[in-house]
Amino acid sequence: MILGGGESGVGTALLGKAKGYDVFVSDNGEIKRKYKDVLIHNQIKWEDNQHTESKILNADIIMKSPGIPDKVALIKKIRTATIKVVSEIEFASKYTDATLVAITGSNGKTTTASLTHHILKQELNVGLAGNIGDSFAKQILEENYENYVLEVSSFQLDDIDDFKPKIAILTNITPDHLDRYDYKFENYIASKFRIIENQTEDDFFIYDADDPVIEDWLKSNLIKSQKLPFSITKEVENGAYIKNEELIITIDNNQLIMPIKKLALDGKHNVKNAMAASTAAYLLKIRKQTIRESLENFQGVEHRLENVLRINKVQYINDSKATNVNATYFALESMQAPTVWIVGGEDKGNDYRALFPFVNEKVKAIICLGVDNKKLMENFGNMVDVVIETQYMSEAVKIAYKIASAGDNVLLSPACASFDLFENYEDRGRQFKEAVRKL
Ligand code: ADP
Repeated sequence: MILGGGESGVGTALLGKAKGYDVFVSDNGEIKRKYKDVLIHNQIKWEDNQHTESKILNADIIMKSPGIPDKVALIKKIRTATIKVVSEIEFASKYTDATLVAITGSNGKTTTASLTHHILKQELNVGLAGNIGDSFAKQILEENYENYVLEVSSFQLDDIDDFKPKIAILTNITPDHLDRYDYKFENYIASKFRIIENQTEDDFFIYDADDPVIEDWLKSNLIKSQKLPFSITKEVENGAYIKNEELIITIDNNQLIMPIKKLALDGKHNVKNAMAASTAAYLLKIRKQTIRESLENFQGVEHRLENVLRINKVQYINDSKATNVNATYFALESMQAPTVWIVGGEDKGNDYRALFPFVNEKVKAIICLGVDNKKLMENFGNMVDVVIETQYMSEAVKIAYKIASAGDNVLLSPACASFDLFENYEDRGRQFKEAVRKL
């Protein structure tokens, strides 16, 4: 039984069918046309806009899409009936012997996963899956790569039993999605650390040693995996750190050294992402020269501090994926010039205080782009001279164009979800880019 007819659900259905299961897909919303076509073409039974409980509660095993929260009544019933519930990565990983590099964290998953894949693919047969692109299950069925880089959310980790990556990467942990974790940060932390729960002494755990939440957890929990921390503040014996503006990776007395200024992506957070990705690549025996070159020529990922255009010496930057304060923190931190900042959207209980020093130092004007901008006004209204409200992206960009002078940046880094004015963060980012191009 597969609950949710999206990418992971339909991928699991295909893999399940191929492995001899009697498969049924149930979605209480509408299944997208392209997925329906796949199900019909492969003669897989399905329903949408409903859940037939009698069928669901009769299942031997249920794959629950990561989007469905546990508090839904049907899921409660399933749990009470003690039917086995797994996530897609749990189900799919049973059907591959590939080496798995699994990446989780509150921010930086997609960037780090894409960068890791970019390096590995120079020398290895490797797929990129998880929350990116085609589902892991589908790729196992159709591509059968020898290695996978997986972007793994906490929701995927919530329903694992045996999932065991060779290399686990934890980029950072800051409060997010707490509505799915009984509003308890410790539950969310525990979920993230499940990425290493089945690892043994032969496996590796790469993590941010500057993150107090991760360090605290490691102090009070014993782990079996070999630890490879990365840090931009202190030297580490095995792992990655910075010295004299150089990134140094050490694994068992072998070292890879590279000047930070040669990294393709800007910002401290991207130095961290580069450390994590290259440590994984180094572990997998990718040549040093290949790692260096890949870090130099990586193109970045859309909507993550993406340079859009330079117009009249003003740089326009799309960071629409910054849907929380922590992501925006790193965006503002990386700004090297006076910045016109477009911010706002659906507030997720944001605490903006961490941004104050950067706003004071670097932001010359704020454009609030949300249905409700009250909280932004309260926080930043007196901090900068120009604060303007709008509910249209085209207008936000036009105002930014008028305010910015040569040498400035215009940065869209909302620190909020996009759903008040846009379909999703991609839509928001695309509208921004379109408005910039129209200038
Ligand atoms: P995720 O997949 O975890 O959401 P992304 O790579 O898509 O992460 O990046 C989301 C946002 O966080 C972007 O605004 C990006 O600039 C920022 N970001 C990327 N890496 C990090 C990091 N290591 N720490 C904090 N913020 C980051």
